[in-house]
Amino acid sequence: MSFGEDVSLMELRQLELLGKVLKPGQEIRPHYERNIGIVYNIGELTIREDRLLSLIRRGFFRVKGYISFPICPVCGDVDLSLNVYCPNCNSQDLLKVDIVIHYECHYADDISAFRRPEGLVCPVCERSLKVVGVDYGRPGISYRCNNCLSVFQLPLIEFSCSNGHLLRLDELAVHRAPVVIYEPSDLLRESAAWKILDLVEALSSYGYKAEPFALLRGNVTRTEHIVDVLVHRSGKRIALLIFNTPNVNPDSVSRPLTIAIDLQIPVVAVMSKEFAEGLARFLRMEGNVKQRIQSLFPAELVRVVVYENEADKIAKLLDALEKL
Ligand SMILES: [Zn+2]
Ligand SMILES: [Zn+2]
Ligand SMILES: [Zn+2]
Repeated sequence: MSFGEDVSLMELRQLELLGKVLKPGQEIRPHYERNIGIVYNIGELTIREDRLLSLIRRGFFRVKGYISFPICPVCGDVDLSLNVYCPNCNSQDLLKVDIVIHYECHYADDISAFRRPEGLVCPVCERSLKVVGVDYGRPGISYRCNNCLSVFQLPLIEFSCSNGHLLRLDELAVHRAPVVIYEPSDLLRESAAWKILDLVEALSSYGYKAEPFALLRGNVTRTEHIVDVLVHRSGKRIALLIFNTPNVNPDSVSRPLTIAIDLQIPVVAVMSKEFAEGLARFLRMEGNVKQRIQSLFPAELVRVVVYENEADKIAKLLDALEKL
């Protein structure tokens, strides 16, 4: 298989991983992670939103809905922290208090100031508090400024982003991040990379240890080769190269041999019938296409498999693997 220029090995690995950890129909939700931003967890992998957006564009996910995250309208930062202020003097030194008001002398303070072993006693007029709502009140939890001593129900709230922009609640902007469903598109399922993953799964079901998109360094040239599928069988490694695109070029002939010689492992060139016929035409070969193409390679280094459909591909490939 020849991958499009926009498909890097890392992306192929990601494709493999997604298929392993996600089940079709699975929902992935965004969340905010401090110092990183909006992220998605896919198995043990944490990916950023821009990465997920590119996966959506490439057909891995369907957008189900959105979750809005508050952000700084100045710099777009999601990393907001909440600050509280005294509405009277703007001090940030506040205490949370459970207020008791003694109606008879109008003294108000935190309940701790009234507590005595014998019950609640006013620390100012020394009278005991008897019935709530009658001689004393409990307005509830409030805040008290430690600077100006004023008591208030709610402090002023302000947010600050990690770049130091100060914002009131009504000044916050929102960023909508998609909630997605793992639902690979038909186009993606028809892609060459996806077909390779299907093949790996099929080989595994027949007991072969198969690894997709293996990156191997050549013994001779020291260059790196991506092998579509690397099969491990009783300590032996076999490279599978898949040719199923309509593009036939001289590289199709040289690549299996190059890899076999450079990696010093046997190669199975797995070709669709259409590809093999195209290659035969390209090389102006007559007669049995498979035999002709096989004759281009030393059989101990490169085996050619020409298949007509997916079931045929597996059957012939298993047969070739047995013979190597
Ligand atoms: Zn900001
Ligand atoms: Zn104050
Ligand atoms: Zn009192």
